[in-house]
Amino acid sequence: IPTSVYRPIHALPDTLISQIAAGEVVERPASVVRELLDNALDAGATQLQLRLMAGGIRHIVIEDDGRGMPEDDLALSIHRHATSKIRSLDDLESVMTMGFRGEALAAIGSVSELRITSRTPHSETAMMLDASSGEMEPAARAVGTTVEVKELFFSTPARRKFLKSEATEFAHCVEAVRRHALARPDVGFAIWHGGKLQHQWRGADLASAKQPTAVDADEAGFFEGLGDAFKEVDQAQWDRRIADVMGAEFMEFSVPVDHQEAGVHVYGRAGMPTHSRNRADQQYCFVNGRYVREKTITHAARSAYEDVLHGHRQPVYVLYIEIDPQLVDVNVHPTKIEVRFRDGRIVHAAVRHALEKAIAPSRAASGALDGG
Ligand code: ADP
Ligand code: MG
Repeated sequence: IPTSVYRPIHALPDTLISQIAAGEVVERPASVVRELLDNALDAGATQLQLRLMAGGIRHIVIEDDGRGMPEDDLALSIHRHATSKIRSLDDLESVMTMGFRGEALAAIGSVSELRITSRTPHSETAMMLDASSGEMEPAARAVGTTVEVKELFFSTPARRKFLKSEATEFAHCVEAVRRHALARPDVGFAIWHGGKLQHQWRGADLASAKQPTAVDADEAGFFEGLGDAFKEVDQAQWDRRIADVMGAEFMEFSVPVDHQEAGVHVYGRAGMPTHSRNRADQQYCFVNGRYVREKTITHAARSAYEDVLHGHRQPVYVLYIEIDPQLVDVNVHPTKIEVRFRDGRIVHAAVRHALEKAIAPSRAASGALDGG
């Protein structure tokens, strides 16, 4: 379009607005997986089944045992900026759910064939919504929600071209699940690809896990995505989950982290200096239960290992940071992978000291090996 030609302004049609906006949220199958896992966890799910075909490009199905959606909500769920998670700016300041922007399902629906089947503890039957037609019909399902995403980017071939091989896309999907699995050791995860079970990480034992009752689901659990069960995960459960996801070798060559400073609690596990890597691809950090990649934290971690890691060697760690939600802005980026701290220096110091303390014994050992 030559820029010299006058063209009048017109409002874009809704579908196009959604497709443009979807670019920010849905980049590849793994982004769909991330958003759907967020939703399932926000709904209080304790068991998640993820089934993929062709790296998630052809087919992604996520089944949860969360509280489900009543019919009216189901119809609204695929609308842009429709959410059950915040009502006001005040809610946003202390949001504990993974989602709150009400964008994901609308975005996914605009670039795929989306179907959602859901049932609440109060309904006799499930309802299935076809997002493209907006039609709903009764379906069979236990309490919970199944979201089915077919033919990602079928209507936007330009985007589809950016996808990598099925194996690569699948690996990204697994990575998305690893992040959620590390964040929530109380929840069970199973990943299937092309009909084959690829990973299964057990959640908290059902006997000890708190089963949400209908009352819980309606009242108490409404604005609390993380719920109480999360807080009650014991150390053995955390360790088992970290071992499941990170592997036995990491467990052997890592040390526990636990440090409190200026209202910031940092815990998890840190690799010994001898267990470093060439790439920063095994660094997991969670702020109030949300996986993030944030410069303050990665810098603080790197500086804790400063004199024991040489050249470009990268530490390996799984760190959980708990901080007053009022001191973190999670609404920085549509995918919420970035956060902003009100005072980054406090977090930097807490992370650095936590790691320095944890690796001090192995640091001394490796220093000795290096000859001082
Ligand atoms: P957000 O998560 O930001 O609210 P989404 O578009 O991801 O926006 O979801 C819209 C709404 O649909 C959510 O607020 C929630 O009420 C409902 N929802 C989505 N997925 C599920 C699910 N798996 N179980 C129950 N409710 C869900
Ligand atoms: Mg969401």
